[in-house]
Amino acid sequence: MPFSLWYLLVAMLLTSIHPSNRIGANRVGDSSRVTDMATVRPFGVIMGTTKRCPTCGETKPVSKFCRHRSRKDGLRGQCRACSTAYYHANHSRYATYRHAHRKEKAVYDEDYQRVHCEKRLAYRVAHRTERTANRHIARARTYGDHHRYDTEAWKAQRAAWGNRCLCCDTTADLTTDHIVPLSLGGTNTLDNLQLLCRACNTRKGQKTTDYRPRRKCDATS
Ligand SMILES: [Zn+2]
Ligand SMILES: [Zn+2]
Repeated sequence: MPFSLWYLLVAMLLTSIHPSNRIGANRVGDSSRVTDMATVRPFGVIMGTTKRCPTCGETKPVSKFCRHRSRKDGLRGQCRACSTAYYHANHSRYATYRHAHRKEKAVYDEDYQRVHCEKRLAYRVAHRTERTANRHIARARTYGDHHRYDTEAWKAQRAAWGNRCLCCDTTADLTTDHIVPLSLGGTNTLDNLQLLCRACNTRKGQKTTDYRPRRKCDATS
């Protein structure tokens, strides 16, 4: 093999394992972004608008292909129709195999769960604020509000309040409360958040009680 080919192979390998290629992947059918991103050409991003299926030999729009993140063009080799046909022709064979190996699989699954359980838990604890914020974004959207608060700023605000419930002063079971509830048109922004324990949050319910410490200018008025 000539040297230039080796060089190309090594370059392709290095490009494929670079972490930047794992993000920013496009969805099938989002044609406007497909063409934008096509100029960048990292791995896993859909390139072009049509593709030839080697099984049926037809050239089809990229929406007729399933996504495949680790493939160079971001799509599966076969088109959806050929993949489905393959599935129907072979799924009973796979089912038989799975059934025959179900005991090994159960042992494997148990091991896997045990190893990953702690990891998952640690991740959840470390990203608790972000996870809550994501739920808030989703809930705000259902009320037509598209704000998202900065989680780092929210953590800083909570720390400034001593990480305590603003109502009863406890440090246990704290929750993020929207002062004006999202359901009543409150925004999902930092100035509409206060720190309450679960009990106080439940007691507050749909009311708009502001428990935040009053600022100096408010106190004098
Ligand atoms: Zn096909
Ligand atoms: Zn409380």
